[in-house]
Parts: sequence; structure tokens; C-alpha cells
Amino acid sequence: MQMETSFKYIDENYKRITYEIGEAKAKYRKPADEITFMAVTKTVAPEAVNHAIGCGIHVLGENRVQEYLSKKELYLPEAEVHMIGHLQTNKVKYIIEDMALIHSVDSLHLAQEIDRHAARVGKVQNILIEVNVGAESSKSGVSPDALEELLLQIGQMSNVHVQGLMAIPPAAGSEKFLCEMQELYLDISAKKLDNIDMKILSMGMSGDYAAAIRYGSTMVRIGSALFGARKYT
Ligand SMILES: *Cc1c(COP(=O)(O)O)cnc(C)c1O
Repeated sequence: MQMETSFKYIDENYKRITYEIGEAKAKYRKPADEITFMAVTKTVAPEAVNHAIGCGIHVLGENRVQEYLSKKELYLPEAEVHMIGHLQTNKVKYIIEDMALIHSVDSLHLAQEIDRHAARVGKVQNILIEVNVGAESSKSGVSPDALEELLLQIGQMSNVHVQGLMAIPPAAGSEKFLCEMQELYLDISAKKLDNIDMKILSMGMSGDYAAAIRYGSTMVRIGSALFGARKYT
């Protein structure tokens, strides 16, 4: 098979998605609201990722530690990298220095490991708490009922700082869950917990980013709508 050398489809997808993000924002949000367009890179060749950075992407979302480590040297340095996939505690050490934000923290144990490694390398690691808003057994995330207790415990750590929440709502009935996430986010914000910020609500993927913006998302994580359908996952 011939190498794909033209990334014209990425230019077109980038333009279309940026336009649609702008439309959703104009319709549902305040002009001053910022919505970050993250490019989700799983299974995508580094050359295609770099092309997206050239289009204007400045945040990359990584799912797998192994895949990230094999590609990181090839990425242009302009974009910051976020971990969005389920993170095993024994892998924290491999990525702690590189991640601007870890979206997928869903247990006290994982937060403690991140805190420990962040202290070791001398940083305060920004994190989001992943919420299992649809209560799906197949998905990671803390249950909405357990969220506040987890935040109170993480708020006491010196080398992690919670910046907000992340969710992957069920594909079916997505709007209902997006709305529930917004309520949870606003609810927690209003409590003004010590050492906990609610600045980032990471939700919305290729299929539901416009709806997620309607319900207060500040960061949409887009893979297939930008890079095309994944051949494997
Ligand atoms: C794969 C993935 C995405 C992007 O999914 P698309 O539907 O391809 O846009 C977003 N968030 C997470 C956590 C993912 O694993």
C-alpha cells in the first residue's frame, strides 16, 4: 500500500470542526468562554498528528502509555500532551514529567501515586477527576456519589492539583448525561472545596462535541472526526 502523503483531509476536518465548535459556542455560550479543541492521537501516525499541530492544534490527548512513549520523540514540541486513557499506577512514573494534565484520575490510590511521583520530579501535577456519569460497569471513573469525598482527600495532597472533571458519557442518551455532568460540575464549583479548582470540564468527542459545548464543556477531545476512522483500537 502506498504511504499516505497528503493530509488534506486533516485540513478539511480541522476547519469544519473548528467552525462547528464556533457555531455551538455562539449559540449556547458566552463570548469570553474558551473551548479547547484537543486532538486524540490513539492509533494515529506521528506525521498526521504533526500536521494537525500545524493546523493549529495545541493539545494532544494520549490513551496508552506504551503507544505514547513510542511516538513522543516524533511529535512537534509546540503542543502540550494530556493523558486521557485509563492509567495504571505502575505506569505513572513513565509519563509524569511529560503530562500537562491527566484527565483520568478516578481513585485515591492513583492520586497518591501521582502525588508521590510528582514530588519526586519536583512538579505539581494538574489533574481532572474522571466521573462515570452513566454508571457503566465497562468504564472507569468515580461514581457521582463518591466524587466529593475523593476531592476532599485529594485536596490535601501537595503535588497534585485538581483543575476540574472529565467524563465519557454513554453514547445512547448522551444529552441527559452531559446535562448531569454540567450539574455536578456546577454543584462542586459552588462548594469551593479547599485546594480544588473547577476550571476545566473535559467532555465531548467526535459524536457529541456540539452537545457537550451546550452543556458547559471547556475541552472537547476529538479523534476520528479529525483523523478519520481508526482501523484498530
Ligand atoms: C478515543 C477517545 C476520544 C476520541 O474519540 P472519537 O470518538 O474518535 O473522537 C476521546 N476521549 C477518550 C478518553 C478516548 O479514549
